[in-house]
Amino acid sequence: MPIATIDPSTNVLLKTFAPHSPAEVASKIEHADAAFRAYRNTSFAERSRWMMRAAEILESEKAELGRLMTTEMGKTLRSASEEALKCAWACRYYAEHAAAFLADADVPTSAGKSFISYQSLGIVLAVMPWNFPFWQVFRFIAPSLMAGNVGLLKHASNVPQCALAIESIVRRAGFPEGVFQTLLIGSDAVEGVLTDPRIKAATLTGSEPAGMSVASIAGRSIKKTLLELGGSDPFIVMPSADVAEAASVAAKARCVNNGQSCVAAKRFIIHEEVYERFASRFTQAMGALVVGDPMQERTDVGPLATADLLGELVRQVEASVALGAKVLTGGKRVNGPGNFYMPTVLADIPKNSPAYREEIFGPVAMLFKVKDIDEAIRLANDTPFGLGSCAWTRDGSEQQRFIAELEAGMVFLNSMVVSDPRLPFGGVKRSGYGRELGEVGIREFVNIKTVWIKA
Ligand code: NAP
Repeated sequence: MPIATIDPSTNVLLKTFAPHSPAEVASKIEHADAAFRAYRNTSFAERSRWMMRAAEILESEKAELGRLMTTEMGKTLRSASEEALKCAWACRYYAEHAAAFLADADVPTSAGKSFISYQSLGIVLAVMPWNFPFWQVFRFIAPSLMAGNVGLLKHASNVPQCALAIESIVRRAGFPEGVFQTLLIGSDAVEGVLTDPRIKAATLTGSEPAGMSVASIAGRSIKKTLLELGGSDPFIVMPSADVAEAASVAAKARCVNNGQSCVAAKRFIIHEEVYERFASRFTQAMGALVVGDPMQERTDVGPLATADLLGELVRQVEASVALGAKVLTGGKRVNGPGNFYMPTVLADIPKNSPAYREEIFGPVAMLFKVKDIDEAIRLANDTPFGLGSCAWTRDGSEQQRFIAELEAGMVFLNSMVVSDPRLPFGGVKRSGYGRELGEVGIREFVNIKTVWIKA
């Protein structure tokens, strides 16, 4: 894939970038390694000051950073500036809490003193996707840099200007040179970087094939990885729920980021008692969303990020309809330039169709009718993925069953799934392993060192 900015609203090529040569990559790794040797000795107070400054830059430049994200991957300008602010929140959160999260922790034993010391690891490689081009990277940067690690970013090839803007923010915030650098490389160059002994670990957010590749390369040299992969989150509605509220949140939960979010609700599993009410309100809400120019304030759903993604979505819907799925609204691309697809609701989805089996990365919702909670949970778990999940019910015993029995890294009750710097984020099954964010997130890439001092 070329490293280039292509406007998804028009598919016009705006700018291309020459990939870094192997010599340039080697020199950046050398620079990162040298930076780590000094950076690991900086204090939490110094790192915190730089991280707070990064937050201020993100806040003050949210409009132009937002325009950059929208130009490169098509999210609405409104959501893009909100993304810049969310990054600032993560920076502030870790600036304020990292020292406490990584403070020595006494563990009483028969020793005179025994404790856990959390120490930085070194260079961490971050392989990141285009869908939240700032948020995905800052939720790596904020904890990792506060922990005393340094970062190398291999961003998705369609968001090179976002990648360079992030490097510039970290530098302007005052972090020492070399603490965070962007590598402009294709995915074929990742192996060479990851096998370098100076790279200590890798985090990847993206697709299953990318995750399998990075984890197996890292596994060969026993390096830790964290994988945040795909999802096909269930959104379950039971009879005691506020159906009107659930239906309106459902449209938002499916179409967030033009439908291209790993934790977007994708499968809507509705109890038969409220199915008709939910289906008509939800279909109406999906059909009313404004599709168009993502730079316009009134737009709800912009284009998919690339022409390939649009082609894949068209294939998945057409194949599902050919197998018997029913289109309640939408069901096709928008004629004209750009990668626009109509918000779509599918029902009567056959088990062997792509809409049932695969992750659908676009504004297409799958509706299922179930007769009771057992069937709802069985259907929700009938997927290789296990990222987020949500269930709408006011019944306490049903809530307990969803918490206990949904096979997912996250369960939200009477709310859509969202990431929050204070809470761990990640999945089970083929959605990956490890957790970002929260107190546990910052401990993924540290040496958890046991210290024992004889009495
Ligand atoms: P992708 O193709 O896997 O790309 C993600 C990143 O991995 C890009 O930087 C890409 O580089 C790189 N990459 C691709 N193949 C690779 C390989 N074999 N070796 C090393 N690096 C490789 O994913 P995508 O289609 O852009 O992103 C959408 C996917 O990400 C969806 O499945 C979505 O659910 C998932 N996602 C998960 C989360 C989460 O937190 N769980 C969050 C967001 C997205 P190039 O661009 O150069 O190919």
